[in-house]
Amino acid sequence: MKNIPYGKQDISQEDVDAVITALKADFLTQGPTIAEFEKAFAAYVGAKYAVAVSNGTAALHLCALALDVNETSNVITSPITFAASANCIKYCGGKVTFADIDPVSATLDLQKVKTLLESVPKGTYTGIIPVDFAGYAVDLEAFRKLADEYGLWIIEDACHAPGGFFTDSKGQRQRCGNGQFADLSIFSFHPVKHIACGEGGMITTNNKALYDKLMVLRTHGITKDPARMEENHGGWYYEMQELGYNYRLTDFQAALGISQLNKADKGLARRREIAQYYDKAFKGTKVDASVANYKEGHAYHLYVIKTPDRANLYNKLRENQIFAQVHYIPVHTLPYYKSLGHKKGDYPIAEKYYEGCLSIPMYPGLTDQDLDFVIQTVLANA
Ligand SMILES: *Cc1c(COP(=O)(O)O)cnc(C)c1O
Repeated sequence: MKNIPYGKQDISQEDVDAVITALKADFLTQGPTIAEFEKAFAAYVGAKYAVAVSNGTAALHLCALALDVNETSNVITSPITFAASANCIKYCGGKVTFADIDPVSATLDLQKVKTLLESVPKGTYTGIIPVDFAGYAVDLEAFRKLADEYGLWIIEDACHAPGGFFTDSKGQRQRCGNGQFADLSIFSFHPVKHIACGEGGMITTNNKALYDKLMVLRTHGITKDPARMEENHGGWYYEMQELGYNYRLTDFQAALGISQLNKADKGLARRREIAQYYDKAFKGTKVDASVANYKEGHAYHLYVIKTPDRANLYNKLRENQIFAQVHYIPVHTLPYYKSLGHKKGDYPIAEKYYEGCLSIPMYPGLTDQDLDFVIQTVLANA
């Protein structure tokens, strides 16, 4: 029997050829392919600037550093996300506060964030990290309005949503990561995400000052730009001006990224087709697909269903080599976050969502035959 995971990369001969070409080129890292990938990615999401990094978690960490997160910072994020969305604040010594999710979209609830902000003196919170969970683009225009009222920055965790968009109050489509509303947006190129580089990440922004900061922080805090240096001893000279990291992407990963990006729209169209295929199959059955139900602009990293006996369905699917997954265990209930004072019961909507959620297979390489097998197995065991 064929293994069907919940998510999987789509590697074509063109991708393989692109990596081989990159391996034979002069630079394996720090070469011209990085800037080429950044330019192509910025154009894809509609942002002015893009900074390629070694993974999505590094992207989050650099964003937190560029926004000067420190021990006095207090940042709001969703409990239904990958832990990295919150961890980046802890790396910088800041405090993480969660706000509950909207029960329909399973994304950070704007009203809950508003209530939280209203309940304490202005200045208590520093920033918000909304997550385009499962590929659903959050209304960043609304978050921006609220953030501006309270002087907060926004990092959009768009790992699930390259190519996703929401429609703003003027009827304009706003692409995830386009820099119109968020200060910074981040993406991951882990193989389960839309664009696979093995490991890899990207930060996009329209803010030149943040862009300049990120470029330096990505490579040890070192600059070779004569205009920025305190001194200049000659061609070899560089200055390490702040404490940065080595969070670089390699050129052969960037080459794979460019090649993957070329077919991103095709992959996204197939994801949306799969979502509608599932919707139709589950309509009127005991499978609750309301979180996933087709919406224009959804990027469908995940297709989440809810079922009362999730453990049973998960196990039955596994017996059939269908490897569904749970997204996510609420971050505030993970032992590390419990050790910081968060506890079960804090965010009941997120916790209830967690009890029933299951991500069934969603990736462009699924055939209609695969989908029929998944649907049949889900319906027989839900
Ligand atoms: C994958 C992911 C990350 C982290 O990306 P890595 O490349 O695995 O470090 C962060 N946030 C979300 C929501 C993700 O899905």
